[in-house]
Amino acid sequence: MINVTKTFLPPFEEYVNTLKRAWDLAWITNNGILVQELEQKLKSYLGTDNLLFTANGTVVLQMALKALNITKEVITTPFSYVATTNAILWEGATPVFVDIDPNTFCIDPQKIEAAITQNTQAILATHVYGIPCDIEKIQTIAERFGLKVIYDAAHAFGCSINGKSLLSFGDISTCSFHATKVFHSVEGGCIVSDSEEMNTQLSLLRSFGHIGDEHYCAGINGKNSEFHAAMGLVNLNYITQIISERKNLSQLYDSFLTSENLLRPTIPVNMEYNYAYYPVVVETEDVLHKIVDNLRAKGVSPRRYFYPSLNEIPQTKYLNSICPVSETTSRRVLSLPLYAGLEIHEAEMIAGTIKKVLRG
Ligand SMILES: *Cc1c(COP(=O)(O)O)cnc(C)c1O
Repeated sequence: MINVTKTFLPPFEEYVNTLKRAWDLAWITNNGILVQELEQKLKSYLGTDNLLFTANGTVVLQMALKALNITKEVITTPFSYVATTNAILWEGATPVFVDIDPNTFCIDPQKIEAAITQNTQAILATHVYGIPCDIEKIQTIAERFGLKVIYDAAHAFGCSINGKSLLSFGDISTCSFHATKVFHSVEGGCIVSDSEEMNTQLSLLRSFGHIGDEHYCAGINGKNSEFHAAMGLVNLNYITQIISERKNLSQLYDSFLTSENLLRPTIPVNMEYNYAYYPVVVETEDVLHKIVDNLRAKGVSPRRYFYPSLNEIPQTKYLNSICPVSETTSRRVLSLPLYAGLEIHEAEMIAGTIKKVLRG
């Protein structure tokens, strides 16, 4: 079975040897040595000062909204993983969906202003597939209307624009280190903010809101363990190799599929990309189903990332939002298998199967 992704696993010995350092201290969670070391290494890899390692890439969205006191309306993208929307709802705020740009599949900055009301407090946008949002335009709008900006950068680990990590923009950026992502710590994530003060606040929110007997706020448990940090530390040794393998496979798909009538999001030239996903948009949902059936018959399981459009799921139906670009894209988009370890002949077979369907 070839799935859309396959978790990268480092040599077992290397993981165990790293973990042993915490094991020998009998200190396996609560900001242990491996968590601290991972945070240092991530800061240096990403070039960001204020970064915290966390339990996952969802709690960080909740922590971001909490730290910025967001309780009313949040302008957000309908084309993302459902966690982006759920975090807003979970915090008791209201998502306001703004349609996506047909070239980048990220929130369309031209449409943001029309969605701003007296209750708008923030913009929560996703760098979908690791492709950057229009950061400059979003910043300009945010400054003009006094809004906070949060980026869900769950797909953007290792991506940079003009040499700057995609995790270093907005008031707060978050990332996921889930086992299905480009870089992982089994479960995990991080939150990056633009000041030491905010970092301290987020650090409190991550650990129940208290330090010793001093209580400051209603925090949550967003921290992570030495077992997870050990996996992150070891995987960081392989990240260059992982991204380069993904790049080669993406280019292989490119070369096999360029002649076909497939829409792909545009990767800007001034960015360093991480090849997190290989999405293709076909002409109709019918064609998509045909491709899926034919791939399944060959033991290949692509995924409909991201479907359905988040303005069309039960928990947001009450908003009656209409986002035509996101809706039509989500119905026709398929993410092809892409991971370190996917064989060249497998990518060839997948592309060949798609070609055959497209050419009837
Ligand atoms: C994976 C993902 C998340 C959630 O991350 P977890 O670590 O699984 O909680 C959030 N947002 C986006 C866009 C994602 O792809």
